[in-house]
Amino acid sequence: MAEYMHICLSDPQYGYYKTREAIGADHKQADLGGDFITAPEISQMFGELVGIWLITAWQSLDRPKPFSLVELGPGKGTLMRDILRAAQQVPDFLAAADVVMVETSDRLIARQREVLKPFNGSVNSLSWLSSIADIPDQPSLVIGNEFLDALPFRQYVKAETGWHEVAISLDQKGNLQLGKSATRLDDQFLPDGAESEPDGSVFEYAPARQAVTEALADAITRSGGIALLIDYGHDRSGFGDTFQAVKNHAYANPLDSPGECDLTSHVDFAALMREAEKFETLKTAITTQGEFLLALGLLERAGALGAGKSPRIQQSLRSQVERLAAPDQMGRLFKVMAIMPKGILLPAFTDA
Ligand code: SAH
Repeated sequence: MAEYMHICLSDPQYGYYKTREAIGADHKQADLGGDFITAPEISQMFGELVGIWLITAWQSLDRPKPFSLVELGPGKGTLMRDILRAAQQVPDFLAAADVVMVETSDRLIARQREVLKPFNGSVNSLSWLSSIADIPDQPSLVIGNEFLDALPFRQYVKAETGWHEVAISLDQKGNLQLGKSATRLDDQFLPDGAESEPDGSVFEYAPARQAVTEALADAITRSGGIALLIDYGHDRSGFGDTFQAVKNHAYANPLDSPGECDLTSHVDFAALMREAEKFETLKTAITTQGEFLLALGLLERAGALGAGKSPRIQQSLRSQVERLAAPDQMGRLFKVMAIMPKGILLPAFTDA
């Protein structure tokens, strides 16, 4: 499944990120819109509040200068643009920032370069990398929104003989089908309660997401810093199939039209927190997107932006707040996880 996902998303000729305009609003005319919309594209308030959080984090680290402001999978560059715009209030932060965009899609890199051009003079530097392994050896503030879900994952299905890896093959008619391979998952990766799951139960494990978390934790341990990862997923490891395909703002069958749908799964944040906490000097914290944004002043910001504006603008701001923070929209499903050195206090995390 991981290999299927990797080919569908990243094939240099036919891959989804190569050929499709993934991120954007729903447009009636075909080819204008994207397949899904993300928080920074819904509202500028998302990036502004994340920016304020990052500035506070920088202050908690005693204002390192220079430091890397790293974004993982920056899409259209909107989040970084809004972060930097909010940070114009704190010129010292901007002047100390080496902005590092970690991106693999050439098309999106071109777009990000364009969007960030106006900040060329106000940040210390602006650069692009294709791998997190190459981030500079200095304190880093790392942000990633809907990055982890795009990294490949594996599924295991319970049978009498153990948890077998789900594989993708062809049926007799040549159609893609899911099946059970002989490869089994080592028990150490299974969460509590695995023994009492019925046969056919599914467990998802994403070595690529664990590896990114480990690399971040390692970088923070060596050079200092804080990471903030936002995505849909769960704060307790569990069972169930969350493999999903999205095309034109609707769910599709992940085995239909390979290369034409965005493929993702929910992020098991509990597994990532365990990974980061293997580093003795680090701690992690998690909250929901709704609680995070409200704690940072989402309502107050919406009020300030809407003051004296037309009813149409005020209504649009209200609907942005709803989409980002309401429990039945993105507010509860989306989680915000922080990885940081022990002893640091950060806003919006009650247990941190
Ligand atoms: N953060 C953006 C985009 C999310 S989509 C937003 O919130 O709108 C996922 C992003 O991750 C895309 O920019 C995609 O090109 C990038 N990406 C996917 N796999 C990657 C990898 N292995 N390394 C770096 N970037 C990757």
